[in-house]
Amino acid sequence: MLTVPFDMPTFEPGWVWLVGAGPGDPGLLSLHALNGLAQADVVVYDALVDKRILAAAKPGAELIYAGKRGGKPSPKQDDISQRLVTLARSQRRILRLKGGDPFVFGRGGEEALALVAAGIPFRLVPGITAGIGGLAYAGIPATHRDVNAAVTFVTGHQAGGNVPEHLDWAALAKGSPVLVIYMAVQNLPAIVEKLLAAGRSPDEPMAIISKASTPDQSVLETTLGNCVTDCAAANPPPPAMVVIGRVVELRASLDWLGALDGRKLLPDPFKKT
Ligand code: SAH
Repeated sequence: MLTVPFDMPTFEPGWVWLVGAGPGDPGLLSLHALNGLAQADVVVYDALVDKRILAAAKPGAELIYAGKRGGKPSPKQDDISQRLVTLARSQRRILRLKGGDPFVFGRGGEEALALVAAGIPFRLVPGITAGIGGLAYAGIPATHRDVNAAVTFVTGHQAGGNVPEHLDWAALAKGSPVLVIYMAVQNLPAIVEKLLAAGRSPDEPMAIISKASTPDQSVLETTLGNCVTDCAAANPPPPAMVVIGRVVELRASLDWLGALDGRKLLPDPFKKT
């Protein structure tokens, strides 16, 4: 068990902990996540989980990969859920480790429902979702008083691979000053077309954040009008997410990570003089 100055839960055999690993940087793990890793007998992890985090597992713990590899089809969600049930029934401590937060575009709900249906006790450990942590590592606040009183998390990709049709893109475009779009790169042209058609300005600032909070993080600053061309030229590696809205302007002042490498940070762009 992890030693900290307060009580941490014991991982009981036969339990499953559904744990968010955050966007990459192992320092963004929660204490509950670290405590779970220190006790788990089996860790079932996703493609998005940063490999440095697996080093926190108990020595001798079994590490099971449950993601896509080498172009092979990914295991079916039902198979993963069933596997968690079977593993838990072996009376070991099973930690299901997912990138970001398990309940944000992470199918954590589906896996938890399967556990409930099978009568397996579980704990949910939230993680820092890429839409919050990734933006922070790019120096972009999700909300800023001078810009937005609302922010919307959207997926740019539905089960079949297309832009989610049931989403009211026009309402999103009109209603949400800042849009944070997961899984957006593949369908970027279609998404941009819908937003522009609904009246968003082609001059609106936008960023594409790739491999956020890892040593390979890159951020492409562009505009809604130029992003399709810029993204095709830069070809940001996955995972990548998109943020649209004037909060992106704050990056010139708040890119704290860039400042560590010598970037000069500019004054507040919204300050009225
Ligand atoms: N549960 C995860 C999201 C899973 S969906 C979470 O809460 O963060 C996968 C998408 O998340 C990717 O396509 C990408 O859009 C985004 N994502 C996850 N990790 C990321 C990272 N380190 N950098 C940029 N985008 C990331």
